[in-house]
Amino acid sequence: MLREYIHALPKVELHVHLVGSASVDTVVALAARHPSAGVPTDRAELAAFYEFRDFDHFLKVYWAVQSMLRDRGDIDVLVTGLAAELAAQNVRYAEVTVTPYNHVLDGMPGDELLAGLESGRATARDVHGVELAWVFDIPGEKGIVAGRETLTFALGERPDGLVALGLGGPEIGVGRARFEPFFTAAREAGLHSVPHAGETSGPATVWSALHDLGAERIGHGTSSAADPALLAYLAEHRIPLEVCPTSNVRTRQVASVDAHPVRRMLDHGVVVTLNTDDPPMFGATLEGEYLAVATSLGLRKSEVAALAANGVRSSFLPASRKDELLAEIAAV
Ligand SMILES: [Zn+2]
Repeated sequence: MLREYIHALPKVELHVHLVGSASVDTVVALAARHPSAGVPTDRAELAAFYEFRDFDHFLKVYWAVQSMLRDRGDIDVLVTGLAAELAAQNVRYAEVTVTPYNHVLDGMPGDELLAGLESGRATARDVHGVELAWVFDIPGEKGIVAGRETLTFALGERPDGLVALGLGGPEIGVGRARFEPFFTAAREAGLHSVPHAGETSGPATVWSALHDLGAERIGHGTSSAADPALLAYLAEHRIPLEVCPTSNVRTRQVASVDAHPVRRMLDHGVVVTLNTDDPPMFGATLEGEYLAVATSLGLRKSEVAALAANGVRSSFLPASRKDELLAEIAAV
């Protein structure tokens, strides 16, 4: 019953990585395009390969997918596969994180990447009824050069649907502040700032993302819960957190969904949105995240709807589209 209610709510997804979104079906399609990649093409074998074992295994799956992305056709397969998964869950809009630096480093020309994103986005809209926008993110572990290249690519190409600059990868030893010039330039050019912070390091990283990078939303922000002053700041300034509970469990940042500090965030008035990060690789779905949190916290339907509404309000959709989706949520 709660499951049906969650399905009926129109939802948005604000934190999902394009490569990490590849489902088994998508990988079957990619492996058929690239038999020499050595990725299993048999569905059952691939499903076993996909079963989450530990973080190293997750990275193995992630890089196996990444290795099969070579041209616009591959990107199109990936984007349309994600759109089908989203549509099946009544997700209407997603801001999808793409890491151009990694694709170009792996030998894909930038214009192939952009052509695949654009054709996939058109199919998502026309065939699946899902609107997609892009966050171009800097792989932080690759340093300043990745920041510079990502910014240059983003502002030089400025593809349709690009809404924000992100920052991902490990946090320990990769201070947010060193990326300040790129975020400043991106914001001056009209892009939003949505860095990961507080996923694998403490609240100081979140403070840095806010002060140094002008973060308008925080990717994860899990460790914010350890700092009451930070929670108060996030609540006061209405800076949403992109919470990805299953991802945090899988990467062992929290012991279980029940142990996730999402209740503490909500109790402090923080705007919490629910998201999946790398859904099939972590065995997550957006509906599953809503269900897990609602069950764990014993939420009423109105509180579940409020989480869906938080997602809509925290998105970079135009105000008129937000109003339409909020009206639909209210009607459910
Ligand atoms: Zn992420």
